[in-house]
Amino acid sequence: MLFARRSDWNARKPDNGHEPVKTNKGVKVHYTGTRYEPWLEQHALCAMRVRNIQDEHMDGKGDADIDYNLLVCRHGVVFEGRGAYAQNAANGNKELNRAHYAVCALTGSGGYTDVPKKMITGIQDAIAYLRRHGSGWEIAGHRDGYPTQCPGDLLYGHVLNGSLDPGVLWDGGNHIVTDGETLGKISVKYNVPKDYIIMANPDELDSSGKVKAGMKLWIPARGVPLKGADPTPDDDATEFQPFPGAKWFHDEPNSPIITAMGERLVAEGCGHYTKGPGPQWSDADRESYAAWQRKLGFAGAKADGWPGETSWEQLRVPYVGQTPGDFEEFPGKEWFHTEPKSRIITAMGKRLVAEGCGHYTKGPGPQWTEADRASYAAWQRKLGFNGAAADGWPGEYSWDRLQVPEDDD
Ligand SMILES: [Zn+2]
Ligand SMILES: [Zn+2]
Repeated sequence: MLFARRSDWNARKPDNGHEPVKTNKGVKVHYTGTRYEPWLEQHALCAMRVRNIQDEHMDGKGDADIDYNLLVCRHGVVFEGRGAYAQNAANGNKELNRAHYAVCALTGSGGYTDVPKKMITGIQDAIAYLRRHGSGWEIAGHRDGYPTQCPGDLLYGHVLNGSLDPGVLWDGGNHIVTDGETLGKISVKYNVPKDYIIMANPDELDSSGKVKAGMKLWIPARGVPLKGADPTPDDDATEFQPFPGAKWFHDEPNSPIITAMGERLVAEGCGHYTKGPGPQWSDADRESYAAWQRKLGFAGAKADGWPGETSWEQLRVPYVGQTPGDFEEFPGKEWFHTEPKSRIITAMGKRLVAEGCGHYTKGPGPQWTEADRASYAAWQRKLGFNGAAADGWPGEYSWDRLQVPEDDD
């Protein structure tokens, strides 16, 4: 398993010791219950999200520590919360907290609501780890025994269908590859994911995972942290939003960059929002930004709440996948329903194809067709939308993420 210990994600110290738990009935599964912005997808941002959750539980709820025993991101990394042998504060009340460990999947109630395959593997790992540390066999949802939506219908479906169960736990050992064996077969035989076997054998295997007869492989134990794996690459791997220019803010933009900025301001303790942060620039953004400028030591006109380059660079706003000005603005929902013929439709189609969402038999071309709609629906699903939110009619959020170039021939 890929395990990020508290020191790996820069956890704060708990306010007091946790009540010990030696054994219990099993694990309860949770989700974050908040919106997960698709632009927060880079793994380098997952540690920041876990820190934010810890802040919320300690500062917002007054709890001694992050409430969960373990957390799992969509990249399959298991983050150590209170860890094993500790009573959590997530399941609803003391009795429930003692009866089951709490594992939180970092999937949301909006935005990214899906449960990717790597996350399922990570939840299995978390459960395997806890079973090696006193957990009983049960796997249930937060909603079992406590009135809540958590962990959401999709994840709860996985609780019910058994896919989160890690199965028989391999304890680690060597394997000599026989004739005709593939990594896939070995993975099934030991119930250890292929990626982990590749990571545990850097001298024998490359990322293709091609094995040869006679090869001696180390098959790592399930539910035990992999040695030498780097579960939390440094901030160097994080891309930040370049300064959009002072003028851009004065035009009162509506952009995911403003949401990302707001989230960072809140994380820095500078939030002056009554709701949000959201994409529309408002006085609350300006007030919050002024607090950030004061925090940096600026005063007077230099702390007027209008972002400048120096304070922006220091805020380290995660890159949201676009830079203002270079892309076609959202033409409005109604426009697409008029079945337009426009170079914008061609440019959109090319971007859909580039994203692997093309459902064109010919084209794309300037005339809006059912093929455009089918392709756009694939894009919406790729962003994690489903149902009516993935009906193929462009909305502003998915449009901004698509980044349709303004000047496409
Ligand atoms: Zn929950
Ligand atoms: Zn991650």
